[in-house]
Formats: sequence, structure tokens, C-alpha cells
Amino acid sequence: MIELAKYRKTDGPLLVVVSGPSGVGKDSVFRYLKTLGKNWYFVITVTTRTRREDETNGVDYVFVDKKEFSKLKESGQLLEFARVYGNWYGTPKEPIEVALSKGMDVLMKTDVQGASTIKRLIPESVLIFLTPPSVSELSRRLLLRQSESKETLRIRIEAAENEMACADNFNYSVVNETGRLDLAGQHIESIIIAEKNCISLDKNS
Ligand code: 5GP
Repeated sequence: MIELAKYRKTDGPLLVVVSGPSGVGKDSVFRYLKTLGKNWYFVITVTTRTRREDETNGVDYVFVDKKEFSKLKESGQLLEFARVYGNWYGTPKEPIEVALSKGMDVLMKTDVQGASTIKRLIPESVLIFLTPPSVSELSRRLLLRQSESKETLRIRIEAAENEMACADNFNYSVVNETGRLDLAGQHIESIIIAEKNCISLDKNS
């Protein structure tokens, strides 16, 4: 088990989980965050989903078949795993431990179930809910992406409302305004700076 408390001195490394409904723009926000050149480690999820045209194996995801995924799961190499829209997604444990031990902040993106699993396993983790300006804007973004079949698109849009209802379980909410990745990125960076440098007086946190 990852003991984040062991690494959490005043400005020790953080484990940050960014979640939110499918299509909200987690991947785009992460691409933006990567350009900032901070001492951050971005977790690469292992998935059984088919690679999209604009994705690179080993960069956006590690794409594996179901057998390979089961092996990773059964050998305890995944910190958390979940079946999302019919595909398996899992977070590899070892690279996270290595990054934390080097003092790097770790940023990962998961669906909402993944975020609550991480919070249960590692209570010091910081959960950020990325939200669209509206549900209709989210549907528009999913339609624009044109990477889903009609059926998976319908499932993702239907799931979005339930996922939006989970925002209350998160530590922060950040709106991903259309065309303003820079703002969402700055807000996430501000949260990381505050979490590392300030002591929360919120008795509930
Ligand atoms: P997509 O197929 O659109 O890339 O991702 C589908 C959903 O799976 C998104 O909500 C995405 O954040 C989530 N996801 C990606 N990586 C992980 C992971 O490692 N764990 C979990 N639980 N969900 C993930």
C-alpha cells in the first residue's frame, strides 16, 4: 500500500486525482498541464479500450488485451482498477511509488469510482472534480469528439448526469470553460500550490 503520509511533510509530494464525466476534457487539460514543465509525474493508465486515432501507446494510455490486464490485476500491480463503459482501466502502482519517493507530485485522471477508491486507500490524496460549464456543452463535446459509436456515446451522455452528482465527494471543483484550457490548468496548479504550502483550517477536510 502507498503510504502518502510518509511523504507528506509541509511541502512533500502530493497525489492529485482529476476526475469528472467523460468528455469534460480531462485529457486536454492534462496535455496542457504537461506543457508547464513542473516536477509532476503523470500516471499512464493501462486499459483494454481500443486506441483512438490521435492516441499513442505508452503516452496517452498503455493499451493491453483482457488477458494482460487480468495478469496485472491479479499480481497486485494496480493501485485501483475499474470497468468504465465496458472497458477496463487501471492505475499501475509502482511508477507512482517511484515518483513519490523522488519527491514528485503525482497527477492522475480517473472516472469518479476510481477517485473514491483512491481517497479510501490514500486519504491524503487531493480530489479535483473537473466540470463542464453545462451538461449540454458536455454532450456537444462528446459529439464533436466523433470517437464513439452511437451506442457508447448514448451510454456516456446518460452516465454524465450521475457522475456530475458525485462532485460533492471531491475536495475541489474546477470548471473547464470552453476554449480556456489555460484557466483550468492554472486553477489546478493553484490548488497544488495551496495544498503544498498552506494548512487547511477546514475541520471537515
Ligand atoms: P476514455 O475511454 O474516454 O479515455 O476514458 C473513459 C473514462 O475512464 C474516463 O472517465 C477516464 O477518466 C477513466 N479512466 C482513465 N484512466 C483511468 C484509471 O486509471 N482508473 C479509472 N478508474 N478510470 C480511468
